[in-house]
Amino acid sequence: MLSLREIQPQKNEVYLDNNATTPVLPQAIEAATHTMQLCYGNPSSSHITGIKAKYILETTRDLVRQVIGAQSGQVMFTSGATEGIQTAIISSLIAAKSKVNSVKKPILLYGATEHKAVPESLKHWNEMLNIGAEVIAIPVDERGILDMDFIAKHVPNALMICTMIANNETGVYQDISLLEKTIRQHNSDVFWMVDCVQALGKIALTISETTIDYAPFSGHKLYAPKGIGILYVRDTAPFTPFIAGGGQESGLRSGTENLPGIAALQAVLTLLNDKDDSTFKSSAQLANYREQLTQTLCEAFPEIVFNHDFSCSLPTTINFSVKGLTSKDIMDLFDAAHIRVSAGSACSSKVTGSFVLDAMGKPKWQSESAIRMSFGPATTQEEITTACTAIKQAVKALQSSCLILSDTADNSNLGVDGLQQWMYDNGCTWCYVDQRTKECFVIDLAPELVGKFETLVACQGYQVVAALSTHQHIANEEHVNMIQALLHTSNTTCDALGWPKNAELISLENDLTVEAIKVGDKVLARVAMPGHTQNSVAYLLGSPSNQKLLAKDIAFAFTGDNIQISGLGRCDHQDGDASALYQSLQFINQVIMPDTLLCPAHDYLQLFNTTLELEKQSHELLSQALDGELTEQAFIAEITARDKQLPTSDFNQHCGVVTAFSNVIEVVHPNELVSFIEHHPNTVVVDVREPHEFDAYPDDVIAGKKMVNIPLSQITQFVQQHKSEQSNHTYVCICRSGKRSEAAAKTLQRNHFENIFHVPGGFALLNGN
Ligand code: PLP
Repeated sequence: MLSLREIQPQKNEVYLDNNATTPVLPQAIEAATHTMQLCYGNPSSSHITGIKAKYILETTRDLVRQVIGAQSGQVMFTSGATEGIQTAIISSLIAAKSKVNSVKKPILLYGATEHKAVPESLKHWNEMLNIGAEVIAIPVDERGILDMDFIAKHVPNALMICTMIANNETGVYQDISLLEKTIRQHNSDVFWMVDCVQALGKIALTISETTIDYAPFSGHKLYAPKGIGILYVRDTAPFTPFIAGGGQESGLRSGTENLPGIAALQAVLTLLNDKDDSTFKSSAQLANYREQLTQTLCEAFPEIVFNHDFSCSLPTTINFSVKGLTSKDIMDLFDAAHIRVSAGSACSSKVTGSFVLDAMGKPKWQSESAIRMSFGPATTQEEITTACTAIKQAVKALQSSCLILSDTADNSNLGVDGLQQWMYDNGCTWCYVDQRTKECFVIDLAPELVGKFETLVACQGYQVVAALSTHQHIANEEHVNMIQALLHTSNTTCDALGWPKNAELISLENDLTVEAIKVGDKVLARVAMPGHTQNSVAYLLGSPSNQKLLAKDIAFAFTGDNIQISGLGRCDHQDGDASALYQSLQFINQVIMPDTLLCPAHDYLQLFNTTLELEKQSHELLSQALDGELTEQAFIAEITARDKQLPTSDFNQHCGVVTAFSNVIEVVHPNELVSFIEHHPNTVVVDVREPHEFDAYPDDVIAGKKMVNIPLSQITQFVQQHKSEQSNHTYVCICRSGKRSEAAAKTLQRNHFENIFHVPGGFALLNGN
C-alpha cells in the first residue's frame, strides 16, 4: 500500500473541476490546523478550552449569517449539503404528513436539473415516511430555466418544492424572485427548499428577505475542506432533527461539531467578506476568465458546441460537447495532459447521457459527449493562462492522432497500421488500415463512431474499400444509408450488409469458393455464418496465396455475434436459428486455425479477442459440438433451453451469453515500479492508453526506461503480430487508473504471453510524473 505521503498531485496539474470540489485555500488550511493543534476543545465543554472552541463556533455562525444574509432563522452546521437536504426534506415531510389527507393528490416537486441528492432523497423519505405523494420533476426549457407555468399549475397540490439557485453541471441560474412570486402566489405555505451549493461565493444572497424555508450549503464547494456544511432554516419552517443525541447546535443537530472544518469555513468567509482582499474575484473578472477559456476551446475544437446559454449561467462553469469526440475521448486526453475536467455524463463503458442536458432537450450526442470545465471564484489569472496553454498543447495530440482535423498538425506519421477496436456501449467497431496503400475497411461501425471514422479517413486520406456489418440488426436501414454515404455508393453497388457487388472469388481451406475483396496485400473474404440471425456473416482477413486463403494465413476472423468472448450468440431472435449456428460453427472450425484471432461484435468482458481454442476451453458446449461429442439435436436443445432463461430486455445479454472470465494478473504497485524495473532489466513498460493520451504529456520515461505505447484499441493487432514470438521480456502494463492496464494484461496473458504485470492505480498513483 502507498503511504499517504506518497499520494501527490501530478506535476503541473491544472484543476478545472471546481464544481465537484475546490482545493482548500491556504488560509483555510492554516485555520483548521490551528484549531486542531491549539483550539481543540469541545464547544460543549464549560472549561476555558471549551469556551474558546465555542467562540470559534459562534463567530463563524455570525459570519455565515452575514454572508448569506440570514439575520433571522436558524443557521446550523452540518456535514455537507447532502445532510442539509435530508434534514430539510425530513422536516418538511414530517410536518406535511398531517396535511396529506387534506390535499387531493399530494405531490412533491423538484426541478428536473436538481442535483441527484434532491430527487433521490425526496423519493427515499416519501417512501420511508409513508407519505404516498407523487414525486414530480418540474420541466426546464432549453436554457435550463424552470417552467413557471408548470409550477403555477402544480404547486397548489405540493407538500414541498425543491429548486436550486445555480446548476452544478451547467452553472445555469434561476430567477429566484420570479420563482418565489410564482410559488407563493399559488401556495403560500408550501415548504420550499433552495439548494444554494453552487451559488455561495458567486451570487450575493439575502436569504432571510425571501420566503425560502430551507437552504443547504457545502463548504467543500468554496475552498473549505469536505465534511462541513450549513443549513439555513427559516423561523416559521418546521424542523425535525435528522441526528439526535447530545443536543448540540441547540438541539437541531447532535454530534460534536466539526470545529476544524468550521474554522476553515470562517477563514474562507472572512476573505470573501473582505472588500480589500483580492482572493475572490469580481464577476467581471470571472467572466473574463470564461472568455479566455472559451476562446481557447473554440480555437482548439472548431466543432465545439456550448451546452448552455452564458447569459443565464455563472461565469465559472463551461459545459461543452465536440462533434465526433466522446466525453471519454476528451476526458482521457485532458487527464493525460494533467488537466482535470469532468464528463457531463458518467464515464463508463456504458454510455449514458447527462440527465441535466437531457432535461434541457439537448440532442443525444451533445448530452452523451458533454464535458464540464469549472473554475472557482478564487481562481487566478495565472491558473487560467496555464490552463489555456495546456489545452492548446493537449489538442495538438488529438490532431496528430487524427481524432480531430487540422490544417497544421503533422499526422503523416500516424502509428496505426493494422487492426483497431473501438468500443461503444460494449459494441465493437473494427477498423483495419493498410498504411502502405492507405486502404481501409470498417466492420460493425457504431453510428456514434461514424464521425470518428470519417475524421480518420479524411485526416489520412484513406480509401474506404468497405464498410461492413456482420448481421442485420446491426445493419438497420439508417445504418445501411450511413454506410453507403461513407462509401459514396448506393444499394446498387453493395448489399444490405455493405458487401460490394464487384467482389472477386477465392477458395478457402476446405475448397469452398467465396467472395473476397482486396485490402493492401491482404484479402477480406466473406463467409455465410447464419445462427444468431439468418443473414449473419463472418469476414476473414488474411494473406492469400494462389487464389487461396488457407487457415494458417488468416490473421483475423470477424465473427459478429455468433462466437463471442466466453460465449455463443443467442438464437432466439426473430430469425435466429440454433441448427444453423451448429452448422456455422462446424464450418468455421474447418476454415480457420484453433488459434486464429476471433474479433466479435460485442466485448462484454473487455477481453478484445478470442480463439476457438480458448472458447473450447471455457465453453463445454462449444468444445463438445466441435469435437463431435454432441449431436446437432442435443446442441439445439441446449441452446434453446439456455436462450429461454435469458431476459429479452437486458442489453448486456442482448446478443449473446457470456460467462465471467477471471485470470489472476500479477501486479507491480506504483511505489514499487522503479525498483521492479531496476531488478528486471528486461522490463518493457507498456502504456496502454490511446496515442493521443500518450502524446499529451511528455512523460514517457520511468526509471530511465522509455515507455512503449501499445494502445488498448490496438491490442488485438499486437497479439496477432507477436503471439508466435519467443520473448524474454517482462511486460508491465500501465494506464491512467489501472483499469485498462488490467484489461490489457488479462488479454495478453489469456493469449499465452508470459511475464505479464500491471500497475493498479496507474499514473494516478505513480509519483513524480
Ligand atoms: N447540491 C449541489 C448543486 C451540488 O453540486 C452538490 C455536490 O456536488 C450537492 C448538492 C451535494 O453536496 P455535498 O457534497 O456537500 O453533500
